[in-house]
Formats: sequence, C-alpha cells, structure tokens
Amino acid sequence: MAVDVLSMDRTALEHLMEEGGLPRYRGRQLFHALWKTRVASYDALSVWPATLRSRAAAEWPLVRVVPVERQQARDGTEKIVVGLFDGERVEMVLLPHRFGWSVCVSTQVGCAIGCHFCASGLAGKTRNLSAGEIADQVALGETLLAERGERVRRVDLMGIGEPLDNYAGTVAGLRLMHDPDGLGLSYRHLTVSTSGLAPRIRKLADEGMPVTLAVSLHAPNDAVRGELMPVNRAYPIAPLMDALATYWERTRRRITYEYLLIDGVNDGLTLARELVRLVRRFPCHVNLIPWNPVPEFPYRPSPPAQVTAFRTVLDEAGISCTVRRELGQEIEAACGQLRRGLGAGPTPASGQQPSERPLSRGGA
Ligand code: SAH
Ligand code: SF4
Repeated sequence: MAVDVLSMDRTALEHLMEEGGLPRYRGRQLFHALWKTRVASYDALSVWPATLRSRAAAEWPLVRVVPVERQQARDGTEKIVVGLFDGERVEMVLLPHRFGWSVCVSTQVGCAIGCHFCASGLAGKTRNLSAGEIADQVALGETLLAERGERVRRVDLMGIGEPLDNYAGTVAGLRLMHDPDGLGLSYRHLTVSTSGLAPRIRKLADEGMPVTLAVSLHAPNDAVRGELMPVNRAYPIAPLMDALATYWERTRRRITYEYLLIDGVNDGLTLARELVRLVRRFPCHVNLIPWNPVPEFPYRPSPPAQVTAFRTVLDEAGISCTVRRELGQEIEAACGQLRRGLGAGPTPASGQQPSERPLSRGGA
C-alpha cells in the first residue's frame, strides 16, 4: 500500500492532510474515525463532505482487517480468522476472564523463530504485519465485543509471530492501542510476549512504554532450552536474564515467564528448583502452561500430578505462580495452536477486500 493511513498516528495524518492541501483538523477527524468510531470505510465518515470521501478513497486506500471466519468454544472463547489486504490471513482470539475480556493478536504472518513445540512457526514467516494491522485486530475485537455489551480490557501480543522480530510494527501498534485518541488502553494492560530476543528487549526498555513483558522461557538452562528453542543459540539464558533485569529496572514492570510443561522433557523437579534459582533475581510471575497438543510434534502435556508437583516447588520458594487455564483448546485457539491461514486463494489487488465474503464488521 502506498499510503497506509491505518498505521499513522494523529500527527502523521495531520501532515498527510496538509500535504494534500487540506486543513490539519481533517487528520484529527480521520484518526478519530479510524480508532474511536471504527468506520469500515470512508463512506461512513459522515463529517466529511462526499467529495473529500471519494478523493480519500482514491488517494489513501483504507483497508481494515476483516473477520473471514469465526468459531466459538463452549467456554466462550472465540477464534477469528482475520483477512488482510493482500489475501493473507492470521488468527486472533477473544478470551473471557474474571476481569473481563482480553484479545490475543498476531504480529506476523507465520513465524521465523521455529520453536520445536509451536504450530505458528511450522510454515515459516511470510511477512510482518503493519502497525495498523496489529492495532486493528484490537479495534475489531472492540467492535465484536460491543455486540455483547462488552469491551477489551487487556491485549496480549501472543498470537502468531514474534513481536520483537517485527519491532517497528509492534512498537507503533502499541502506541496506537495506547493513544488516548486511539484505542485508549493503558500500557499496563498490554502484554508483549517474546521468545527472548535480548537486544530488542533492551531497546523496548527505552521506549517509555511500560508494557508487561512475557518471556517464553520453557527451561531454566541452555541445554534443555536449546533443544526446544533454536533461538536460544543466538540469545542464551544469561544474556537474556541481563536484558530482563534492565527491563525491570527501567519500567518497574514485573517480568512474566511462560513455562510450558511437556511430559518428561522439561517438567522434572530438579528443573523446577533450577528455575527458582534463576528467576529469583528480580520480581516476576511464572505462568505454567501444560503443553497444548500440536499433532506435528511428538510430545504429551505433563500429567496433572506432575503439574501440581512442579508448581509446589515454586510455591514453596515463594515465587508467584499460576497454572494457566487453557481456554479454547477444542477450536485450536489456545497458545501455540494458532496457524497462519493457509489456502488463502488468489491475492486480491491491493486496496480490495479478501476474495471471501467478509462477515459483517458492524459498528461502522
Ligand atoms: N512468539 C512469541 C509470542 C507468540 S507464542 C513468544 O514465543 O512468546 C505465545 C505463547 O505460546 C508463547 O509463550 C509460546 O511459547 C506458547 N506456546 C507455543 N506453543 C505452545 C503449545 N503447543 N502449547 C502451549 N503454549 C505454547
Ligand atoms: Fe514463534 Fe512464539 Fe511459536 Fe516460537 S512460540 S515459533 S517464537 S510464535
């Protein structure tokens, strides 16, 4: 796309309007329409005269993400296959919690990191999502939840892709989510999950955006982690922990560790004790997640008794810890089960909707 209005902040839109010989306030109106009213197209921008609406559609195509398939689990979790402007597809998930709804969004089409337990990395990475495509999944979540009288409370960048491998898109997307004139969510309600790209973690610590950082640790030493996550060769545990210490010092946000429990692979109690020694260094929270089955891998989730035993070691050491209740497993909407859309069909020309008839976006 030549001009990507969905990825621009308010100031950039004001400049765009000025460059087009229009008053700056048109940029403000457009930003408001994109993120507060969440218009589906310029046709719905009723404060603009018709001539400006058709000029805008021609010069600055507005292509929002569209839901092409929706699936609901019995626990209320909803998985949405999202169509992008070029026919690619990713997945996002709406999850019900005691505190309200969270939305889990994707940051890339596929993933290049290739962890040996995750469906998202199986087909590699096709491209990064733009800042607008990342934030627009949250806007779509708001629109769909509004139909139930609900709203988005938290956002997890935990869908398909490695957010810090799409650093610019992720950071600009988070700013759109946070901007009070944008989606207006507090940074502390936004979580970035990473496989541990240490230099990018240090960079994020200096962005002045105190988002929660979740780190996919999955093992407390390089031998076991290296088997599960090839990325550990580039960024082993010691430099990763140093980067996390910096993140904690700069943002004062407690680090969250994600720890999958895979039967006989990383769920031994010696490893639990090693984990305690590793994470003691600064305030943290550990999420234990029994591995969600992905048929391409030969593992089994740890049995419940082992999960409890592992958790007890952490509890007794005074480490804050939860066993994650996996929502949406039956529709493959749980962590690590999301896949980039395959068979997306012919690529529609830029500026057009995916070839399938999109479901109603509503809220326009
Ligand atoms: N790339 C980022 C964010 C997306 S993955 C990251 O790796 O952190 C989101 C989370 O799902 C990560 O913690 C990841 O390790 C976890 N995950 C991957 N495969 C899983 C599986 N089969 N079962 C449970 N969690 C899984
Ligand atoms: Fe990519 Fe995260 Fe899956 Fe690893 S766990 S392959 S980094 S999406």
